Amino acid sequence: MARYTAAVCRLCRRSGEKLMLKGSRCFTPKCALDRRARPSGRQFGRRRRLSDRGLQLREKQKARYTYGILEKQFRRLFGKAERQSGITGENLLVLLERRLDNAVYRLGFADSRSQARQLVQHGHIMLNGRKTDIPSCLVKEGDIIGWRERSTKTEYYKQLAPSIEGRLIPSWLSLDGEKLVGRVLSLPTPDDIETKFEGKSIVEYYSR
Ligand code: SF4
Repeated sequence: MARYTAAVCRLCRRSGEKLMLKGSRCFTPKCALDRRARPSGRQFGRRRRLSDRGLQLREKQKARYTYGILEKQFRRLFGKAERQSGITGENLLVLLERRLDNAVYRLGFADSRSQARQLVQHGHIMLNGRKTDIPSCLVKEGDIIGWRERSTKTEYYKQLAPSIEGRLIPSWLSLDGEKLVGRVLSLPTPDDIETKFEGKSIVEYYSR
């Protein structure tokens, strides 16, 4: 599956915001945005003010970078959000949050969404008792997210339980910290999303 492979800190600098793409490193002084907030590349004079279109694009890119999705897939998800009843911008945010790799990250099984995606792709994660290696799979209420038997013998898994202790789990998920099994209690709402996006701006971007 195609994905963005260049330096991810560049994406934060481009967005002008911490998108937390590198897990625990984002909380250290090594964070590239804390060290140098300007976008990468040569700078010529002052930055121009962004047009409305530019702001909408930035909002869309921010959401895309945060969830690690390429444009084609993001556009497809937007189409799905449009076909649902309710507010398209909010539907989109909920669909993004429901991705399996995001749920794995939010349960604390991975340090970042890209690591969570790798765990899923490598077949370590079980969804309702079945190995699921599709990161874009959407979780629903009542789903159980656990580990494959074979993966519970890995060093990574053994070190996970102590490191996960005390971690804040969003209210739409619950976690059995001993067995490292998560449950989807309800569908997420836009308020459950960590990084705040303007869903409305994304809708306006695609409505042109
Ligand atoms: Fe963004 Fe994290 Fe890199 Fe900082 S360390 S620029 S928050 S990805």
